[in-house]
Amino acid sequence: MKRHARSRIAIVGIDGFSPSTLQHFLGDGVMPALASLAARGVRVPLVSTLPATTPVAWAAMSTGCYPAKNGIEGFLLHRPGRRLDDRISGVYADLMTAEPIWQTACLNGLSSYVVKFPLSYPSAATLRVDGAAGWGGLTCLHEAAASGVSRWPDGENALISAVEQWAGQPPAGLSPVWLGCLSLSSTWGHAPIRFALALSTSEDGPAVSIANDPDWGSLLTTLLRGEWSDPVEIPAADRRGKVRRCALRFKALALETDPVSVQLFNTPVHELSGHSLPDSLWQKHRRAAGPIEEQTDPSLLFSGAIDVATHVDRCQLNTDWLCRISQSVLRDEPWDLFMVHTHIVDWAHHVLHGAIDSRHPRFEPDRADQADALLRHFYAMTDRLVASVIDAAGDDANIIVMGDHGQDLHHTTVRFNHWLAGTGYLAFRDDDPTAIDWTRTLACTLGNSVYLNLAGREPTGIVDPGRAAVLIDELCAGLLGISDPRNGERVVHVAAPREHFAYLGAHGRGMGDIVFCLRSGYQARNDPGPMFEITTPWAEFTSGHDHFWPLDPRLQSLMFAAGPAFAADGRPSRPRPIVDVAPTILAVLGIAPPPDIDGVTIESVLADPPPVPAAPSQPLEV
Ligand SMILES: [Zn+2]
Repeated sequence: MKRHARSRIAIVGIDGFSPSTLQHFLGDGVMPALASLAARGVRVPLVSTLPATTPVAWAAMSTGCYPAKNGIEGFLLHRPGRRLDDRISGVYADLMTAEPIWQTACLNGLSSYVVKFPLSYPSAATLRVDGAAGWGGLTCLHEAAASGVSRWPDGENALISAVEQWAGQPPAGLSPVWLGCLSLSSTWGHAPIRFALALSTSEDGPAVSIANDPDWGSLLTTLLRGEWSDPVEIPAADRRGKVRRCALRFKALALETDPVSVQLFNTPVHELSGHSLPDSLWQKHRRAAGPIEEQTDPSLLFSGAIDVATHVDRCQLNTDWLCRISQSVLRDEPWDLFMVHTHIVDWAHHVLHGAIDSRHPRFEPDRADQADALLRHFYAMTDRLVASVIDAAGDDANIIVMGDHGQDLHHTTVRFNHWLAGTGYLAFRDDDPTAIDWTRTLACTLGNSVYLNLAGREPTGIVDPGRAAVLIDELCAGLLGISDPRNGERVVHVAAPREHFAYLGAHGRGMGDIVFCLRSGYQARNDPGPMFEITTPWAEFTSGHDHFWPLDPRLQSLMFAAGPAFAADGRPSRPRPIVDVAPTILAVLGIAPPPDIDGVTIESVLADPPPVPAAPSQPLEV
């Protein structure tokens, strides 16, 4: 094994943990690996970005630049010149306008290994192992079909019966009672991926056999009720229509033979190549780690397609895979910088928070223990990834474990476009009450912003620029005056022209004319529906972070750091902006940050503050 004398650093990004929940679980023994890391190193409270969302916060973390400079200003980005409701996903690396640390490291001759880290995809700048992270509307370029649930007899086109015979003989013990055909839609619009299905009776109960073709000789797997398959390999069309080897797993959610009923869950169908540059890196580690296991977002849980146990299973599969790939890379590669990200804790809060926080109007004390036990389970699962990385990185490595934002209760959804419509600033179309009529609209809300439909700036603009300042004042006052009819509470915490948020870097041209954040409990949405709507625990998001005020301690995150480069006395640190993480990592690596970086090195956490490396002398943009 090759070891470098220079300082190395491995980073585990845990998405969206709540600092107070984490402190509680650290004390309770739920996270022994992180507790031991915390005991031998330092911890720093981190102030997230505005908005405090996954892409925005991790982009700021990895570039050391605020959103106004790094270009990732929201989950969905408004691009000047495009219609206000025509936005693009902000989770792709090629939208970043600042240099991430994995690229800086490579440019300085160091080796970066990035495993499914937000905003690293797609990227040619580093050695990476990726695939879509399964969030934020990001579609992996190597995904042939999406994850989903297919049903017979009441499915919609996913499971199609076919009168067919299978060639050959079934294995001993299986007596087929129903033959069918499963078609998974191609992500890229090519021919569906077809499987032959056979439902049989067996000694152990109903069993479903899945094959490439109606031929017992091409059998991929046979599953009893509740069973998961191993990864099965199949041919499927890639985005260009070329047939490639792919893999997926199935779980038999429900099987009945009389009357016949089949429910099958499938993970995303992923190509077995293309997940790293060069591909040989991925192929080498695939032998140790197996095909990518991902897609942990709770949308299928919320729609009732899968149950809690299946959601937990796939989070476990994802975590086990992250552990295996991290260990393989850390043990076999000459790494200087290693980064891996896990999303399961963030999703767990979104699912469970409202069932645990008694402030929720629909809080049920009887189910709170169940939700709390599940949340512990997800934090404990994540701790195993921390343990795997610490173990494989070696004693001489520096380790950082950190989050991107905290969590707060989302008990009530507020639809601000509904308010704008009610006060005459926005009009919906007569022929489609869900679409905005831009010819009669002065302002609309998107994310944390209110945009004026300004003449000369927006393609649909009707607001005279001379009226803009008055309109902005009027709208800020109006937003701050909105109250929840249920209890009379004000719902907007802060609303001001975007220039007021320059110190958080939230004043870029992608933000609206007004930036606002909501008070604890309230979350904005832009879809059609009532202006105020109480959320339902277990069935939709009941925690949030993106529309809350990032300086609120609940929205802050934490960075834990330990190793030879870090102080060992656990000196308390004041909260630092998340942009300070990148220069601190670069200082540990002994390389200069890019000259226009916003963050500054957190010297108080370093064992020996390093001499500042010589940087090209360019004026800092303020
Ligand atoms: Zn996040």
